[in-house]
Parts: sequence; structure tokens; C-alpha cells
Amino acid sequence: MNLHEYQGKDLLASFGVRIQRGLVASNTEQAIQQAKKLQLETNTNFWVVKAQIHAGGRGKGGGVKLAKSIDELKLISNEMLGMYLKTPQTSKEGKLVNQILIAEDVYYSGAEQCSEFYMSVLLNRSTNKNMIMYSTEGGVDIETVAAKTPHLIFYEEVNPNIGLTEFQARKIAFNLNLKQKAFKEMIHFVKSLYDAYINSDASLFEINPVLKTSDSKILAVDAKVTLDNNALFRHKEYQVLRDKREEDPLEVEAAEYGLNFIKLDGNVGCIVNGAGLAMATMDIIKMAGGSPANFLDVGGTADAKRVEKAFRIILKDPEVKAILINIFGGIVRCDRVAQGIIDAYKQIDNINIPLIVRLEGTNANEAKKLIDQSGLKVDSVKLLQEAADKVASII
Ligand code: GDP
Ligand code: MN
Repeated sequence: MNLHEYQGKDLLASFGVRIQRGLVASNTEQAIQQAKKLQLETNTNFWVVKAQIHAGGRGKGGGVKLAKSIDELKLISNEMLGMYLKTPQTSKEGKLVNQILIAEDVYYSGAEQCSEFYMSVLLNRSTNKNMIMYSTEGGVDIETVAAKTPHLIFYEEVNPNIGLTEFQARKIAFNLNLKQKAFKEMIHFVKSLYDAYINSDASLFEINPVLKTSDSKILAVDAKVTLDNNALFRHKEYQVLRDKREEDPLEVEAAEYGLNFIKLDGNVGCIVNGAGLAMATMDIIKMAGGSPANFLDVGGTADAKRVEKAFRIILKDPEVKAILINIFGGIVRCDRVAQGIIDAYKQIDNINIPLIVRLEGTNANEAKKLIDQSGLKVDSVKLLQEAADKVASII
């Protein structure tokens, strides 16, 4: 689950990580109130208005703006709320801005007086360790740094059984060329950040920039936080942070019916039982020259109801030009699934795109017979390769 910047910062702050302070608003009036409140709390004279969408690169798209007066803040808030913000990380339509974060200006003595660092925490699956990635070259061009000057990015691996050691925290502060107060602040920052990562069951923290202010404070100016969905059951307090408006509506609907669905950008709708088979199906479609429109695992019990729901969700995607159903009958019987497909097909009025079905396993022959005799415009094939070739030749 991805969090908004303001939620991510609140989470970090609850573990003692210093952050750029801010208050969220969903209309202009509220934005002004929050700005005044923040001024009383932090003595800030300037504010940054930051669009809250689940995508980075906002600065480059006009989603981060400095306001030097309440009048200016009002204008910027008015303009930003309700706009479709386009950034290098959104689709070409952009993302609707429902909320803005009113934050204290932390570059108060000018950008030249500050240093922007990059820091992320994530799991390195190949070494089974957590990893802190960091660089002196933080800010909006970190992708260029990674591509052109990768030696400027440092990696610190942390054994999860031991945790982050004092030595490692000091090494990071040292590699970032920090001294005295900033050195100490960075040690505290890294330690509390790692603590937050572990205790929130996060799968990714990306803090870019981590700022060294003109008076040597170290704080998080931005926060991209992804929490592990599989651990959310032990964090009731984080469950309310989910913002469904940011998610793909088809994925939200599928999840409500217990279907494991991920929208992709191709045009072959896939209905498969089992995640491994779903992966293999996507691969073979691709190799045959097609392109999957989704990943969909209907699970072990591919009954009529689930197949119908899967159909309905896939048919809502206007890109879909054909549907391929690939079911392996191990525990589930193929003839039952076939009946499910036929029933679902009849339930839905206008399926006017080709449907290719491959059923293999228990009672596969009976299943093929059922489909062939149903009188529906459904192609039933025996081999997965055949199915993939057929679907690729149609689209
Ligand atoms: P992103 O573009 O989505 O990654 O959004 P960030 O929160 O990282 O902000 C982008 C850029 O806006 C930062 O790299 C800063 O250069 C600038 N910025 C952020 N906060 C402030 C601030 O308080 N004052 C000023 N002057 N600039 C800021
Ligand atoms: Mn950023």
C-alpha cells in the first residue's frame, strides 16, 4: 500500500524522524487556515504548497510551489486543487489533485545554503538483507545520477537479525561529508528512519531530498512510503491511510471479490487459475506476439460466479480485444469450470469479442465437449501454445 507524502511524513515523525512540518488541506479555505496555524507553530514566513498524489516528479510537473504570502498561497492552492497533475511518473492524462500539503519553507536562507541528499530503505531480496541506499546527489534529478554517475550512490546492507549498528550509521554520515552538528543529526536521522522502516513493516522508504538546512538540521522534505500489504493486519492504525482514489478502479473492484487482478497495458484479457500459471500464460502470449491486458488469478475455486465477475471486470477495459481463459483442473473439475464459463457468458449480454478457452486436467474432454456444444462463439483449444497463437492472430 502506498501512502501520500503527508501520511508518510506523519508515520516517520511518529518514530522520531525529523520532517519538514506541514498540514494537509482539501480546499483553499482550509489551506489558508493550515498556513496560519503552521506559521504559529513553526514561525515560518513562507510556505510550500505540495500536490498530494501517488506519483513522484511533482516538482517538475508544477506540483510543488513556494508561496511568500497568504495571497500567493490562496492563488496557488486554488490552481493546484482539482488540477490533473502530469509528471514523468503519471500517465499522460495526469492525476487529479484532491489534497495539498501546506508545508513550512525549509530552504529559508536560499537553496545554495542547503544540501539535498537521497536516502531509501528497501529489502535486497538477493542478499536477504535490508539495504540503505544513499547519495550526496539528492533532489529532483536522482534518476540521472543513477544512470550517468552510479558510483555516487552508496549502499549499506543491514542484517535484519542484528539491526543497524552505530558504526553503520556513522559511516553513512561520514560518506555524506557531514561534520559536527549535521553529522550527529544524520546519525539520529538514519537510526530513526531504519527503526520506522522495521516497525511499520514497510517495504520501501524513499526520502528525496533529505535536507541539510542552513543551520545544519537534517530533515525529510519528501517521503515515499510503501507498506507491506501482507503485514497490514497487525497495523490497524495504518489501514485507514489507504486512498482508493489513487488506485486503479478495476483493481479495487477485483479485490472486493477476492480476485487477484493487476491491470496491464496490452489488449488480451486473461483469466487463469493459479498465479504461476497466470505468469506462464502472460509469457506465452507475449512470445506469440500478443500483449496481456491484465494479470488475473481467479484462484483454486474457478466457479461460475468468480468467472462471471472476472469477465465483467475485464470487459470494462476498453483496450481488451480478446479474452483467453486458461484453467488447469487439478482440484477443480474442468467440466464444472466449462459450465461456469457458459453460464457466465449467458449472464452477460454482449460479449462481442473473441473468447479462447483452454481447459486441461481432470475431465478436460468433457469440458471441451460442453463448450463445443454450447452454441456460443467460443473457441476451445487443447494446447496453451495453440491458444496463444490464436489470440495473437486475432488482435
Ligand atoms: P517531488 O518532485 O515529487 O519529488 O517533490 P519534492 O517534495 O521532493 O519536492 C521537489 C523539490 O521542491 C525539492 O527537491 C526542492 O527543490 C523543492 N522544495 C521542496 N520543499 C521546499 C521548500 O520548503 N522550500 C523551497 N524553496 N523549495 C522546496
Ligand atoms: Mn522528491
